[in-house]
Amino acid sequence: MRIYFDHNATTPVAPSVVEAVSRIMRDQFGNASSIHSFGQTAKAALDDARAAVAELVGGQPSEIVFTSGGTESDNLAIRGVAEASLPSRRKHLVTSSIEHEAVLNTFIALTKRGWRTTLLSVDQSGIVDPEELKNVITSDTVLVSIMQANNEIGTLQPVRELAAISHQHGALFHTDAVQAAGKIAMTVHDLGVDLLSLSAHKFNGPKGVGALWNRRGSRLISTMTGGRQERNRRAGTENVAGIVGLGTAARLAAAKIATDAPRLAALRDKLERGILARVSGTLVNGDRTTRVPNTTNISFDRVEAESLLIALDLEGVAVSTGSACSSGALEPSHVLRAMGFSSHRTQNSIRFSLGLGNTETEVDRVLDVLPHVIEKLRRLSHVGTRAHTESGTVT
Ligand code: PLP
Repeated sequence: MRIYFDHNATTPVAPSVVEAVSRIMRDQFGNASSIHSFGQTAKAALDDARAAVAELVGGQPSEIVFTSGGTESDNLAIRGVAEASLPSRRKHLVTSSIEHEAVLNTFIALTKRGWRTTLLSVDQSGIVDPEELKNVITSDTVLVSIMQANNEIGTLQPVRELAAISHQHGALFHTDAVQAAGKIAMTVHDLGVDLLSLSAHKFNGPKGVGALWNRRGSRLISTMTGGRQERNRRAGTENVAGIVGLGTAARLAAAKIATDAPRLAALRDKLERGILARVSGTLVNGDRTTRVPNTTNISFDRVEAESLLIALDLEGVAVSTGSACSSGALEPSHVLRAMGFSSHRTQNSIRFSLGLGNTETEVDRVLDVLPHVIEKLRRLSHVGTRAHTESGTVT
């Protein structure tokens, strides 16, 4: 049995999405900007996908800009708003210390270009304090960008409150909803945001396609120069097949959220409770109530996360040490570090993220396997430490 518990990294593409993408690739190759019937058929496919994505987030179709994924949506939101507000001379941007690299590195790039940036801290449960935003925001602030759900620990931020504070100071509010869209029911109006990023491959759509919802009237300058596609907000011939895949995945997610969110939460909770009960030295990272239903992040005392990931992979269980990028680089999680955890805890934590196809049988299997794997790793690391100590390497 191979078990995939890494849905925050990416999800399997739903069969209906594969079908829709294949059909478009096979039968409808037109350029959506062409006047003839081939082009108009492609345009109709884009319009249909635009309506589906707008419905998923409760916005208007004209407010959706298709992009190449979450990273581009975040870049377009932050750079696009920053650039558009240059004439106002406002030069301050605010984000949090636990954002995805797509946001953090965009902030770093803008800092180098003369923008003043502020990173809000988080508490031990991974949540931003709105009072801190009140203390740092000024009439110079152009944009506040705080993620809706964190990719490593799943924690949900008080977006509505943060957006309201931003608006009181004349700043726009962007949320990176890449880990929330398609997983929890929400609307841009309830959240009170001005811009929202999402990515198809996090909810059973294809990779390399996403969208930015941009409230009508909030100005955005395209980060890419070229044609006038997407109402001048994103140049380049549209990825029609990918966008149709995004639209199909959005409809699928919208239809399933009401039943799938509680189902996944029950599976996740069973997994989490089982691990805490069966394995000693375990702690959950992040708030256990205010989070997306599919994610748990657990630290295992005296176990190195990478070793556990590999040992579980050998047992056919795929998990992650956090964000996909940092797991490749063996770096301690910046999210857990920002939560104030010791370097040991930032390096012994594993993310389990469930999705559409997961079953209770799979949870039971992981609960059977995990205690043995942990016991073995702890025994080995104990022997390793003793060997080191005896040879004089460690004092
Ligand atoms: N934002 C968050 C919170 C994410 O988790 C990810 C992907 O892991 C991204 C942005 C980037 O999305 P994409 O992979 O579509 O570029």
